[in-house]
Amino acid sequence: MKRVYTFGDGKAEGNAEMRNLLGGKGANLAEMNLLGMPVPPGFTITTEVCTEYTQKGRDAVVKLIQKEVEDAIAHVESLTGKKFDNPENPLLVSVRSGARASMPGMMDTVLNLGMNDATVASLAEKSGNPRFAWDSYRRFVQMYGDVVLGMKPKSKADIDPFEAIMEKVKEEKGVRLDTELGVEDLQKLVKLFKSAVKDFTGKDFPDSAWEQLWGGICAVFDSWMNERAILYRRMNQIPEEWGTAVNVQAMVYGNMGENSATGVAFSRDAATGENMFNGEYLINAQGEDVVAGIRTPQQITVEGSRRWAALQGIGEEERASKYPSLQETMPVCAEELISIANKLEDYYRDMQDMEFTIQDGKLWMLQTRNGKRTGAAMVKIAMDLLRENKIDEKTVLMRMEPQKLDELLHPVFDKSALKRANVMAKGLPASPGAASGQIVFFADEAETWAEKKKKVVLVRIETSPEDLRGMAVAQGILTMRGGMTSHAAVVARGMGKCCVSGAGEIKVDYAAKTVEMGGKVYKEGDWISLNGSTGEVYDGQVPTAEPELGGDFGAIMNLAAKYTKTLVRTNADTPRDAKQARHFGAQGIGLCRTEHMFFEGDRIKAVREMILSGDVEGRRKALAKLLPMQRSDFEGIFEAMDGYGVTIRLLDPPLHEFVPHQTATQKELASEMGLTLEEVKAKVDSLEEFNPMLGHRGCRLGITYPEITEMQARAIIEAALNVKNRGISVHPEIMIPLVGTLKEIQNQADVINTTAAKVFEERGESVPYKVGTMIEVPRAALTADQIATVADFFSFGTNDLTQMTFGYSRDDAPKFLKFYKEHGIIKTDPFEVLDQEGVGQLVRMGVEKGRATKPELKVGICGEHGGEPSSVKFCAKLGMNYVSCSPYRVPIARVAAAQAALEE
Ligand code: PEP
Ligand code: MG
Repeated sequence: MKRVYTFGDGKAEGNAEMRNLLGGKGANLAEMNLLGMPVPPGFTITTEVCTEYTQKGRDAVVKLIQKEVEDAIAHVESLTGKKFDNPENPLLVSVRSGARASMPGMMDTVLNLGMNDATVASLAEKSGNPRFAWDSYRRFVQMYGDVVLGMKPKSKADIDPFEAIMEKVKEEKGVRLDTELGVEDLQKLVKLFKSAVKDFTGKDFPDSAWEQLWGGICAVFDSWMNERAILYRRMNQIPEEWGTAVNVQAMVYGNMGENSATGVAFSRDAATGENMFNGEYLINAQGEDVVAGIRTPQQITVEGSRRWAALQGIGEEERASKYPSLQETMPVCAEELISIANKLEDYYRDMQDMEFTIQDGKLWMLQTRNGKRTGAAMVKIAMDLLRENKIDEKTVLMRMEPQKLDELLHPVFDKSALKRANVMAKGLPASPGAASGQIVFFADEAETWAEKKKKVVLVRIETSPEDLRGMAVAQGILTMRGGMTSHAAVVARGMGKCCVSGAGEIKVDYAAKTVEMGGKVYKEGDWISLNGSTGEVYDGQVPTAEPELGGDFGAIMNLAAKYTKTLVRTNADTPRDAKQARHFGAQGIGLCRTEHMFFEGDRIKAVREMILSGDVEGRRKALAKLLPMQRSDFEGIFEAMDGYGVTIRLLDPPLHEFVPHQTATQKELASEMGLTLEEVKAKVDSLEEFNPMLGHRGCRLGITYPEITEMQARAIIEAALNVKNRGISVHPEIMIPLVGTLKEIQNQADVINTTAAKVFEERGESVPYKVGTMIEVPRAALTADQIATVADFFSFGTNDLTQMTFGYSRDDAPKFLKFYKEHGIIKTDPFEVLDQEGVGQLVRMGVEKGRATKPELKVGICGEHGGEPSSVKFCAKLGMNYVSCSPYRVPIARVAAAQAALEE
């Protein structure tokens, strides 16, 4: 088994294809060699060794790779003409991590390894630059102390012991910048640093280069298991088994004087995607100086430098003298760098993010990788590369990270303002976008304030359908309780409105009209800002900007349409949402939650009348008032979906969600209905349930109150006939919620079919319709073969199916799921990302059993997972006919569905 791969001087044992074994950095270093680019020689210890290290421990692994590492060092010695651990002409090396997936800043690096009192003298003499030699030495002692010897501060609040010493020395000398320190200061620093090491470890700083090298290599392997890296992996779903490689490379120096520099460059703009080479550099510096932000980096190109200066309000003269571009200071290196960037981009056929160093006028490449980018840049770069004939259509689609398309659809914060904003609380990123507004606590107030043209953020402990109108006028919604499928989250996503839910640490006091977060008490009218994409809540007003949907976005959607095998429908309850979704390319409605219509206008009164009536007659009277309103809603939706299927779900939520809970409203209702306040209160109390989510809801309502199903079926069928008569093609699909047994669906299907037959007879005309069910109770999935004898279609309600499969309450789960996630009990929130392993089995079984009974059975998903890329792909691969999601997630689902087709 080969564990070490060398590279240098145009040759390499590895290549770009060996990313899994050599890590991203190692594979690309090898490839750059093969492409004839200037790369300091070195070697890569494979990711497999990292796994061995975790399993067998340090000593065993050192023994395993000792010979190979020694040979590899000899290889570097022969290419550089220098000797490791030898003061005559010392070879110094860097040791860096490099995992399969990029994990920026998560793991450790040591530079200038091999330095000691003897080599520093030799380096000073050879370079003719003692300051450079001593600067490298003090950097090495500091880095080695931090990384290998464990002296790195544990938290941001701690002070790095080395930085503290450095500050003191600078203060004594009366200087501000590191570069202002002279040779003697640096010598003093090395001494002080070493004695700090001795105090900390009880041992002398290691002088032997070999001891240093093994320390460095093992520290990188150790850093794979550090807390930061583990957390990052968990967040980005990178498996622990992947391991990191270690790259050891001959040092090149950007800090050798005014003719040396170090920097980073991008072959295109990572923010906008513009085809413009750009980057930053620092003269006389090593890599960490660029990151540390102590000195202001300069731009590589003249054009970039001018743009930068204009943004900073710096005039041309000052720019050219104080902040010249690399094209001006080192034109030959700059041109070589640009030509390398072009070659690399052509080779990898993607935007490259590169690190380089210039040592005494010679350019060296230290790294290249596909650059991270914004959603907008992702779309533009891929489409530009397609137009440049560098990639094909399928590659364009596969390059999309579907979730990132979201950034293009919602308002975003002004980036520089965001940097200055204070985070006061964090909740779940329930519905993406950016919002800034004045705090209100009640839906009524949201409405009155909005009428006065004020921007508001609705802050609630949790929301219920009563808050819908307030939510509709708010810029954003913040709740203390509730998860990714809570009412607030689902409704906000449907509206395309920013929402942070389940921010458990905030304290909402409705009586005092205050909310406390991050140690500050906010009153009604105070400004806050929400980032629905990260879950962050900011103090004050952070400016936002509206998104622009360019032509490239449309082109991506067209490509998705060309390659997908799965349709994307939308979850929409109003004609407005339906139109929005059509605009994004939805082909039909997969879920129309009829209860949401009950809160529009005055209808809630009729709904309450229906609920509070003691008998069938009273209920029928109230339902008769609702009928025309529902019918006209359905007509609007059928029209918006001209020609596409529309799935309308019968009433689902427990009735107590519709009745008023505040005494004032209860009084009003009592007088309208000729009841006493006590009678209303008693009825409201009687609707209370211990577990409403498992209580009297779904088809259980329609079965106990068939008149409700009758009214809704009639409204749907009559609306369909009316729309058909206006020359619009219409395909109603009536969906029964929360079915768990064959009898339940039979019962409701009978009511629907009888009602439809009656309407057809009355009108002397008919329209085709389908009757189907949601599969959201585990029993429905288990008996899908029976249920399919009645159902024309299945739609997986994975919100409830997840709730009932895990036994996690949708509304209460965030309280412990946060802990679960942080402690690795679960990887992702199952209400957000479909649990393919568990819930997914029920879904698969439902599809298979259903289609075994009825091969032509139409199957889709309408739970929130229908807009989450990995879940969409799972459903597409199960052969579902469609996925359905909220309007603003339609583009994401379309791209994910197309990717699923291409992956097959
Ligand atoms: C579901 O349960 O997945 C579903 C779509 O229904 P609701 O969220 O309305 O319960
Ligand atoms: Mg449900």
